[in-house]
Amino acid sequence: MILVSACLLGLSCRYDGGHNLCPALVAPAAAGLCLPVCPEQLGGLPTPRPPGEIVGGSGNDVLAGRASILAADGADLTPAFLNGVRQTLALVRATPVAAAILKARSPSCGVGAIYDGSFTRTLRNGHGVAAAALAELGIELYTEEDITEEILKHIM
Ligand code: SF4
Repeated sequence: MILVSACLLGLSCRYDGGHNLCPALVAPAAAGLCLPVCPEQLGGLPTPRPPGEIVGGSGNDVLAGRASILAADGADLTPAFLNGVRQTLALVRATPVAAAILKARSPSCGVGAIYDGSFTRTLRNGHGVAAAALAELGIELYTEEDITEEILKHIM
């Protein structure tokens, strides 16, 4: 079983009500190998919702209380995002996973690169906040942009 960002499986949970269906994940999902998770919805945020970015650091910094997740209008989304992390970790405790395929660049799900908090589509290094918490558990992280047949064979 692998954890997958729910938007990559075609669930319309993205901030704008859309999805990011990843065709390579359709067959593994149909085989029951994917645990779909949307940390932002699990945290209680509505869909659609204002997009957020991590300001002042990465997901690890948010977990450590050194950075926040803000909407473009300055609204503080940090408590909801952290609640989403807690709910995601509860799911992982109930259904252990060894790997996760997460939506690239999301403030929750991004792996290795996220937007920098300036709302200018500028990237910085670091994980999103849910990805950072999953990495702390030793779960292997990939984005949909990393997927190859070899990687899918390795993690399934
Ligand atoms: S990137 Fe993550 S938090 Fe954002 S919609 Fe997809 S699953 Fe939800």
